[in-house]
Amino acid sequence: ATILAIETSCDETAVAIVKNRNILSSVVASQIKLHQPYGGVVPEVASRQHLESINFCLDQALEEAQLDWGGIDGVAATCAPGLVGALLVGLTAAKTLSVVHRKPFFGVHHLEGHIYATYLLEPTLKPPFLCLLVSGGHTSLLHVQDCGQYEMLGSTRDDAAGECFDKVARLLKLGYPGGPVIDRLATRGNPEAFPLPEGKISLPQGGYHPYDCSFSGLKTAVLRLVEKLEEQGVDPLPVADIAASFQGAVVRSLTKRTIQCALDYGLDTIAVGGGVAANQGLRKTLQTAAAPHQLKVYFPPLRLCTDNAAMIACAAAEHCDRGHISPLTLNAQSRLKITEVMGLYT
Ligand code: ATP
Ligand code: MG
Ligand code: FE
Repeated sequence: ATILAIETSCDETAVAIVKNRNILSSVVASQIKLHQPYGGVVPEVASRQHLESINFCLDQALEEAQLDWGGIDGVAATCAPGLVGALLVGLTAAKTLSVVHRKPFFGVHHLEGHIYATYLLEPTLKPPFLCLLVSGGHTSLLHVQDCGQYEMLGSTRDDAAGECFDKVARLLKLGYPGGPVIDRLATRGNPEAFPLPEGKISLPQGGYHPYDCSFSGLKTAVLRLVEKLEEQGVDPLPVADIAASFQGAVVRSLTKRTIQCALDYGLDTIAVGGGVAANQGLRKTLQTAAAPHQLKVYFPPLRLCTDNAAMIACAAAEHCDRGHISPLTLNAQSRLKITEVMGLYT
């Protein structure tokens, strides 16, 4: 099926047209510059900017794909989770277009989009597989059993991986978003310069949870380290070494749990998704750790790791193929569990 999808859950206005697993066009209007002075996304500013950008993005996506509405089989939009005001812009546009052009409508869970980003790279990938989902707001290990069928095997108990990158970058005064800057700095630093905790979760019966993790302790450890270095009068701070040591701790934690989980569940394929999947350290370390176990690891191309509409179209195409369809009464939801996505379809 050929699906036109809209993504406006956060600070990217995105429209894409995807035919099965082929991207015909993918337009992303990023608002990063607009939010940078505030050091994070301002919801009210985001909604207003989505309204400003949406029509241009729609026109651009159709033009790049060289299609008119006759060539579109369905319209999709992210409906949850995210900023409700922001989601409503894309969702309302998609529902309206679905009525006007008489096309079926698909509401899509944002994280399901991140899961399917690898489908756009790898035409043969199919469930079952393990998905390591590492984004700005989520960090989970998901057993992907089928389209719409997910089992949560592990997750962070506090901060998401991307959120931790952003917070550490802020305390190192590196700006927003933090992931790409730390990633770049880390290549020039020594990952063993400073020992940092990996964020293990203790179990009441003793030992540690094999798949759950924590990142808030790591963030605090970096803060203490910076305070200690400043007290000692170290100037300038060895930011490259701190970045490399921090990234090393995050990557070790994610890699260890992902490999363990894949082996325990007998899953031979791992798909990584979300903004942190763009991290060069994670890409290298996870591939290297997987090789001796004959595990296949797929990472989306860099531009499909962070928010985009092609991944939303791809998820909608999977539902379309299975005859799932969403009612036009579907509303935007700030929260929705990935295990409950089938509630979006009739
Ligand atoms: P969610 O998908 O959970 O709703 P989101 O949509 O805001 O959250 P994404 O767009 O998937 O998150 O990813 C953005 C996050 O990815 C930010 O926290 C950013 O710092 C992080 N990120 C982007 N590039 C990199 C990188 N190269 N290394 C590490 N982190 C990165
Ligand atoms: Mg974003
Ligand atoms: Fe996202």
